[in-house]
Amino acid sequence: MRIAMIGTGYVGLVSGVCFSDFGHEVVCVDKIATKIDMLKNGQVPIYEPGLDAMLEKNVAARRLSFTTDIVEAVAGADAVFIAVGTPTRRGEGHADLTYVYAAAEEIAHALTGYAVVVVKSTVPVGTNREVKRIVEKARPGFAFDVASNPEFLREGAAIEDFMRPDRVVVGAETDRAREVMRALYRPLSLRETPMVFTTLESAELIKYAANAFLATKITFINEMADLCEKVGGDVQDVARGMGLDGRIGSKFLHAGPGYGGSCFPKDTLALARTGQQFNSPIRIVETVIEVNEKRKRSMVDRVLAALDDRVAGKKIAVFGVTFKPETDDMRDAPALAIVPALIGAGASVAIVDPHGRKEGEAMMPGASWAEDPYEAAKGASAIVVITEWNMFRGLDLRRLRGVMAGEALVDMRNVYRPDEAVAAGFAYSSIGRPAVGPLARAAE
Ligand code: NAD
Repeated sequence: MRIAMIGTGYVGLVSGVCFSDFGHEVVCVDKIATKIDMLKNGQVPIYEPGLDAMLEKNVAARRLSFTTDIVEAVAGADAVFIAVGTPTRRGEGHADLTYVYAAAEEIAHALTGYAVVVVKSTVPVGTNREVKRIVEKARPGFAFDVASNPEFLREGAAIEDFMRPDRVVVGAETDRAREVMRALYRPLSLRETPMVFTTLESAELIKYAANAFLATKITFINEMADLCEKVGGDVQDVARGMGLDGRIGSKFLHAGPGYGGSCFPKDTLALARTGQQFNSPIRIVETVIEVNEKRKRSMVDRVLAALDDRVAGKKIAVFGVTFKPETDDMRDAPALAIVPALIGAGASVAIVDPHGRKEGEAMMPGASWAEDPYEAAKGASAIVVITEWNMFRGLDLRRLRGVMAGEALVDMRNVYRPDEAVAAGFAYSSIGRPAVGPLARAAE
């Protein structure tokens, strides 16, 4: 089948590359000419493990190509995917659908025969119907269908998620559209991946409900972590004991500095706004948003407390700033709430992150960047672990402590074992676990 993928960001690029790997003929379109130029030269503009090799393979097989010309890409396509961004509308929280509707308009004029216009972007309920209206208005009487096909891939594991998803969700209104969607995902149905066919509205809601539920799970365990700290529990034991219950599951039960990233913050906000708009408020999600915002800010207080509120003039080494490991994505990363606050309090911050610098440098002005954790820690009064990249797991803690001027280690991802950190000479604090060593002694 022939596919045009409009929007070549994280989702569009990964989906396009994977669809071409299924054997379909895919043309990826983006407005940003430099991005398309890079891709034409075999360079991948984002960091996503395994993507470059798969891209190269499918370009070589002539199934995958890139263009800025939407008319050329859409001509003769069986399916035209919209995978453009749906950021938060400035100042309020609703999803900004400008890019989706602009793409729909452009696609409408470029269609040359029957095609399914598939909305892959995460969009609020009612958007697919509006896309249908836009195309109908631009091309009265033209044969086409609209389908909602939300994407559930995770950055950092995007290829695996696309190739082996838990399910594929499709909202569609005609048998013809369902047939096209079935054909596109046939390689997955051979692997017995469930396909959930539903209405446009339900498909739109499934995506928001799933993301809001996962954000709620994270926020729940974060609040349990706070309680653990007050009463002497260990949140990791609590999470394990809860997560082994098959009705709950162990995923998304890792306490930390609060959720961030390109999806959860904006999607929880958009769902809450939809609830309010339809006079059906989703109070759990509204609370989750509030608790998570407070949590990111409260992380700054933890660092200040570890330094006895005296940070001015001190060096702080920050380990990891991307919103999670295995991605270079900085969107709404907790680090963006923490690092500028530390700099504002007078600290000099040295960041080490294997892929965060390209995006993060302009977002955290005033910070310096190091290639190596020991270099970042040299002369520092504190180390703060914000993102749990693997490179931080196997560090020699004694050596690390040895190059520092101070002793504070604030581990927001529970990467280290408290006993080992204390044995290496750190005043160690982590999330939802009993404090040990000098900090515990100070609290006694
Ligand atoms: P992104 O910002 O990385 O990419 C969007 C791309 O679309 C940009 O490169 C932009 O230049 C391009 N674009 C915008 N309008 C265009 C047009 N008219 N023609 C051609 N190109 C155009 O966004 P993303 O992270 O890939 O997210 C896309 C959608 O997928 C969002 O709705 C998001 O919520 C959803 N989603 C994202 C993820 C994720 O992990 N990033 C996961 C699931 C769903």
